[in-house]
Amino acid sequence: MDKHKGNLFILSAPSGAGKSTLYKALLKQDEQVRISISHTTRAPRAGEEDGREYFFTDPESFLDMIADDAFFEHAQVFDNYYGTSKASIFSMLEEGLDVILEIDWQGARQVRSLYPEAIGIFILPPSLQALEERLKGRGTDSEDVIQRRMAKAVNEMSHYNEYDFVIINDDFDAALSQITSIFKAMRAKNAVMVQKHNNLINDLLSL
Ligand code: 5GP
Repeated sequence: MDKHKGNLFILSAPSGAGKSTLYKALLKQDEQVRISISHTTRAPRAGEEDGREYFFTDPESFLDMIADDAFFEHAQVFDNYYGTSKASIFSMLEEGLDVILEIDWQGARQVRSLYPEAIGIFILPPSLQALEERLKGRGTDSEDVIQRRMAKAVNEMSHYNEYDFVIINDDFDAALSQITSIFKAMRAKNAVMVQKHNNLINDLLSL
């Protein structure tokens, strides 16, 4: 796959680790960063809008897109399909924007094999207790449902060591500062600079 001017980031976390608050704050303060909007066959939750959180799609259309090779990666997570379309990321990378894929560890594996330059960041909660409190804080779910979510979260966390960077989201400002630094540092990588500042580098070497 061709090199692009922007970096592709994979952001994974168990639900309840504060991933979306973190990347939303990053998007607000860094205008070179974009989030990729996935397709999913799950129903929208209250407050979610088509084209904002996800493109909500029926299973037939999703399968058509798979057949048309329209996905960069896709996965079945529990009873639903999720996928990142090629269209949603490559034009932005080509423009020099950094793109975040907010996907689980299965999707991350697919992306790494297709696009080895992708940079993986895993967000961890500060403790199991904090995670459980955040999962409980979401509503009035039964103990059984919460325990199932906890088990799913632990399963997701067991893949943390497949990622380049790990951020523990204890103090929010510290976590935001860490993720900001990672994005900035990755922009100065040699391969990225060569793509982005090719003319300057040629000029500098042409005496
Ligand atoms: P939710 O339904 O709670 O929004 O997301 C469920 C899971 O699907 C999360 O772990 C999320 O990271 C994952 N997910 C969301 N979009 C994608 C995608 O495009 N590809 C893959 N592989 N996973 C996704």
